[in-house]
Amino acid sequence: MAEPNGDGQKSALILFGPPGSGKGTQARLLKECLTIPHISTGDMLRERMQTGDDLGHVIRRLLDQGELVTDELVNRMVEDRIQRADCAAGFILDGYPRTLGQAGTMTRRLAARGFGWTVVHLKVDYNKIIARLAGRRQCSQCATVFNLVSSPPKRENVCDACGSRLVIRDDDSESVIRRRLEGYEEQTRPLLNFFSGEGCPFYEVDGVDDAPPAIARRICNLVRPGLLS
Ligand code: AMP
Repeated sequence: MAEPNGDGQKSALILFGPPGSGKGTQARLLKECLTIPHISTGDMLRERMQTGDDLGHVIRRLLDQGELVTDELVNRMVEDRIQRADCAAGFILDGYPRTLGQAGTMTRRLAARGFGWTVVHLKVDYNKIIARLAGRRQCSQCATVFNLVSSPPKRENVCDACGSRLVIRDDDSESVIRRRLEGYEEQTRPLLNFFSGEGCPFYEVDGVDDAPPAIARRICNLVRPGLLS
């Protein structure tokens, strides 16, 4: 059986929570504080679909409908990514694992490489998620996320980080958001039981009760002692 994290062990931080709970924003902030890379399967899939080949079209259709892509595809993408040298000391997983199948594969692979893992569950009320995702804008180039209500860009529709145009993601329409939340309830939420059975360090943090940098500081203080020696 796979071994969860112990103190000072090289380790993965799994950011867990429904779509719109702030996983991506938190992962980008935590990457600075923990100095380990941020791996977002959603960003990897959006990048992959830009190629416009057959697989790219399949990915686009699933994402536009708010459906998950296959475990096989994301497992392979993550496996390839975590083999790179920058992941040697640890990394942040955002949006992965999302099914029990992915969680089983991931924990076996991490354990085989001598990694532990820590889970942070970002909890958010669904009504707040729907309001939040409707105001979300993402940079078309560097993927930085803004929110028209809670963290607006300095110039309308322009990314503060790289100056590129901001876009509304196709999967942020209300009907697709509801589909994604249903999918989360059916396929992803059951992972909470899986993780509690694993005995890994597990923290619950409110994803909206404070400004994103303050939430990130709280998470960083919680996880840093166990993640990095
Ligand atoms: P995200 O940016 O994490 O909200 O992901 C956007 C979309 O990418 C999701 O709604 C899914 O369609 C797909 N996706 C991202 N990560 C996964 C995953 N681990 N398993 C399956 N599909 C995923």
